[in-house]
Amino acid sequence: GSTIGIVGGGQLGRMLAMAAARLGYRIAILEPQADCPAAQVANRQIVAAYDDPAALAELASISAVVTYEFENVPVEAAEALAVRVPVLPPPRALEVSQDRLIEKQFLNGIGIDTAPFLAVDSDAGLASALQAFGGNGVLKTRRMGYDGKGQRVFRNMESGSYAGVFEAMGSTPLILEGLISFAREISVIGARGADGEVVTYTPAENVHRDGILHTSTTPAAISATTVDMARAAAASILDALGYVGVIGVEFFVLDDGSLLVNEIAPRVHNSGHWTEAACVVSQFEQHIRAVAGLALGDTRRHSNCVMENLIGDDVARLPGLVAEPDVMVHLYGKAESRPGRKMGHFTRLTGRISHD
Ligand code: ATP
Ligand code: MG
Ligand code: MG
Repeated sequence: GSTIGIVGGGQLGRMLAMAAARLGYRIAILEPQADCPAAQVANRQIVAAYDDPAALAELASISAVVTYEFENVPVEAAEALAVRVPVLPPPRALEVSQDRLIEKQFLNGIGIDTAPFLAVDSDAGLASALQAFGGNGVLKTRRMGYDGKGQRVFRNMESGSYAGVFEAMGSTPLILEGLISFAREISVIGARGADGEVVTYTPAENVHRDGILHTSTTPAAISATTVDMARAAAASILDALGYVGVIGVEFFVLDDGSLLVNEIAPRVHNSGHWTEAACVVSQFEQHIRAVAGLALGDTRRHSNCVMENLIGDDVARLPGLVAEPDVMVHLYGKAESRPGRKMGHFTRLTGRISHD
């Protein structure tokens, strides 16, 4: 079979590689860390920095198409690849999702609501932004944050001292978002094919612990109207980006059932891991199908389910979990467990359904 290139060798790359292998593709990864989760299943690894010109040229030369498993792939690297080989999702999706300010401007520009936001580039800027938001807000680095890192919540801080906050956040461009009091959080995994066909999985409801996704429960406890709005929003994001591949869209659900998009991830998403246990075509296979130009698969689930992440020492639960019926366990092959490190996940099926 032909080779699919993946930039990044973490667990998402590993699970993409496993799905690709099942469809007969070979996988080449570009990843500087030799002993990475994807290395154990890829046919070939180029061990180099993501922006190494020779490595990018090599990846392009051996791949029929190149995709990526994390949103912080340098845009210049994606563009350097794109002059030699199709890069999917398109590099524009990276630009939009790498910077929380550009992301929100893009979303609002296509008619999708987000939390209110203001760019912050100094302590004085923070003071005036907090005042504009009535003293409450979530300050985030515009770039490179994940698992709640690079964030600080302010409550009742209409007046107060912000001296040193900009420096403490790394003296990097920041965004202050309004502090949203949401009823729940959900996400939609969507996919767009090369021919423009769009499919979406039913929304999952997400619970975070210490800033890290803890559980994703399908279906979410939301109305059919909210389900439809969430799926429609994901579809319009996919269309607006001329996207090909799988995307994850995170939402806040407000008390009245209306939605704000929190952020988008131009890749397979942790809150979509349940699809490997509860759908015939997982998000991983869906992504491979899309970038390889195959027909997209059915997104309907055969079961309701709860996916739970195994963080750090949680991985010691393996013997007990595999003894349970209706539980699918997936570990990432990471040698060392560390606090806060995603080591694996499991999905518990909670009831068969005939249709969703
Ligand atoms: P991920 O690991 O999903 O990429 P991240 O580091 O990019 O996470 P966000 O998704 O922006 O971070 O925020 C993490 C969590 O913090 C959200 O899922 C939500 O629970 C909470 N949160 C973020 N922004 C806001 C907000 N403006 N108002 C209220 N809560 C928020
Ligand atoms: Mg994020
Ligand atoms: Mg998030």
